[in-house]
Amino acid sequence: MNRTGKTASPFVIEAIDLVGRPGSQRTVELEFPAPAGLSSDVMGLPEGENITLEVSLESVSEGIYATGHVSGTAVGECSRCLDPVSKPVRVRFDELYTYPAKKPSADEDVVLLEDDEVNLEPLVRDVVALAMPYQPLCSTDCAGLCGQCGIRMDENPGHEHEVIDDRFAALKGLFKDDQEA
Ligand SMILES: [Zn+2]
Ligand SMILES: [Zn+2]
Repeated sequence: MNRTGKTASPFVIEAIDLVGRPGSQRTVELEFPAPAGLSSDVMGLPEGENITLEVSLESVSEGIYATGHVSGTAVGECSRCLDPVSKPVRVRFDELYTYPAKKPSADEDVVLLEDDEVNLEPLVRDVVALAMPYQPLCSTDCAGLCGQCGIRMDENPGHEHEVIDDRFAALKGLFKDDQEA
């Protein structure tokens, strides 16, 4: 629990020392286990594995401007061969946390600085999900799986099947008969 009585989140950074002091700045570097759901549908930072948050907080007249990077090892599955894929990621983020008193108008879409704290969690969730590859690949030229037996083609280059399917074989026979007729 912090001073406001909420459960402390590692993504919430106290900024009271910067509030109302334009030009002042502070950097923070944190490492902590990733919460659940820091991912897109296909790839993400696994829950419980450490991630690093590097943040620079700068006091500006409208609020606190936060920029930084979140990094960790993203894991997923190759979209072609289903092998595990893991790759280091370092994703940039930036957001202005506006003082509630400086909020331009009711319908303007701004993120507010609440309780003099910068809550990076929604921002980090968004940028991580967007940064994940749409179709992860174990390698850019992954040949995928054999459509007939499902083995990885990269492990068996030139691999073929003589007879694919009884019905197809029967069709082949039909065509042959036609041609011969
Ligand atoms: Zn693959
Ligand atoms: Zn095969």
